Amino acid sequence: MISTVVGSYPSKKQSPNNFKDSVLNYFGLYDEYKIGIENAVSKQIKAGIDIISDGQVRDDMIKLCAKNIIGYEFEGNMSKITSKLRAKNLKNSENDLKYGLKVMNEELSELNISKKEKKRKGIKGIITGPNTMIHSSTIENNSYKAKEDAILDLAEILKLEAKSLEKAGAKMIQVDEPFLSTGIVNMEIAKESINTISKSITIPFSIHICGVIYDIMPDLLEFNVDILDFEFAGNNTNINIFNDYDDDLNKIGLGCIDTKNTKIETIREIVNIIKKGLDILGSKNLLIDPDCGMRTLPENIAFSKLKVMVESIKSLESYN
Ligand SMILES: [Zn+2]
Repeated sequence: MISTVVGSYPSKKQSPNNFKDSVLNYFGLYDEYKIGIENAVSKQIKAGIDIISDGQVRDDMIKLCAKNIIGYEFEGNMSKITSKLRAKNLKNSENDLKYGLKVMNEELSELNISKKEKKRKGIKGIITGPNTMIHSSTIENNSYKAKEDAILDLAEILKLEAKSLEKAGAKMIQVDEPFLSTGIVNMEIAKESINTISKSITIPFSIHICGVIYDIMPDLLEFNVDILDFEFAGNNTNINIFNDYDDDLNKIGLGCIDTKNTKIETIREIVNIIKKGLDILGSKNLLIDPDCGMRTLPENIAFSKLKVMVESIKSLESYN
């Protein structure tokens, strides 16, 4: 079974503390978050994760994506759309992914693991989905008549971002759409916008949705995605999809670690969740990951949770 993460890892930053970095900082060339990417990548590899992330250490999921786009403005934590959306600097995400890939390869060169295992390793490109981006923002200056128009416009921009991440070496692309489980999103528009992005790339495409997704499964099964990624540890409703939609499921990202609390799960707890997916779909159709991003957890807890998740997967190697 392949292991992965949803995306975010506890962030770290470092002010310049030597002459060279101070000079770089003077010219606006110093990056205080590089250490956060290095830490996130190194810890995920050390925990034994196969498909890692760059840690999404720079900002929350909305700002991280919005700063690549013209038309977004921020007032405190509130985001607003003040003009027609256009691509600004898609290189931001691409550069972080490339740096993550470089750190990952350095870490892997020091690890004593088989070629086969190394081949499974990679880094995923993560994009905050257009429905979540638009529904979490206000629309001002009559820049769009309806949120739906803004969502479809944004999907065209995010399509370019997905392509640039694929070109930069991503092993897969994941779009995060927590708002899809809230009931306020037009699911037809959601499908159209997600398909716009997924059709533009050739690597595996996953959609991550937090919360209870049981009620929207009929809609989600119509989406053109390779992997549906949900939480199964922190809620006990989602697990019913394995009984009620067993014939319709393709590949599932199986969240089996509760990312909302600091308690480290036992192997038995994790194995119990994974087995429910294994029995229905088999190991080739599962990606094992935590329920959600780990940004808000203390770092030692995040690392321990990932480690016990990998140990749980290993303990299932001979399970059929
Ligand atoms: Zn989530």
